[in-house]
Amino acid sequence: MVKMPRCPNCSYKLVLLSSRPKYKCALCSKLYPKKEIEVKEFQEFNKRRRIEDMESYEKERKEHLTRIREIKKDLRLLFNGFSKTPKEYRKWYYEKHKEKIKQLIEKIYPEESMEFKIHIPVLLITRKVVETIFGKELYEEIIKDEMKRDVLNSAWPEVNSIYDRFKKDIIKFLKNEKLS
Ligand SMILES: [Zn+2]
Repeated sequence: MVKMPRCPNCSYKLVLLSSRPKYKCALCSKLYPKKEIEVKEFQEFNKRRRIEDMESYEKERKEHLTRIREIKKDLRLLFNGFSKTPKEYRKWYYEKHKEKIKQLIEKIYPEESMEFKIHIPVLLITRKVVETIFGKELYEEIIKDEMKRDVLNSAWPEVNSIYDRFKKDIIKFLKNEKLS
């Protein structure tokens, strides 16, 4: 209780008397028992502390909410980006190697349908792009729905069975697949 006690009557400074256990107001000269003033001061002190606690709690809560908002914003950006960026990247990558990929796929899967042949490299690249950008766990989440699509029914299991050998270079990978 560092603060100097104040007179309950006029709010001026109280002085503790040396002769008696009493406080005296230096302005209106009223006397108060020492105990009474100390109890009052203690209650005041607690009240101030409660207000300070509430203020710091409010401040922390606001900071927490701001953090949550920022995280949500980042996640939104991430997921909005997902429908665009990896697809664009995948398209660019596929277009770049299209002819070579076609030839190799034709040699590896001569008996399969056209659709299957198109999907194998596209899904391989998709998985690589998504895993590289979002990580394995998120890939599994994202791809679960993809795998339910009928069109991809036969392609996904094949892609997943050969995927572990696919490191970075699709052409190199397909050449090795052709040999094996
Ligand atoms: Zn006074």
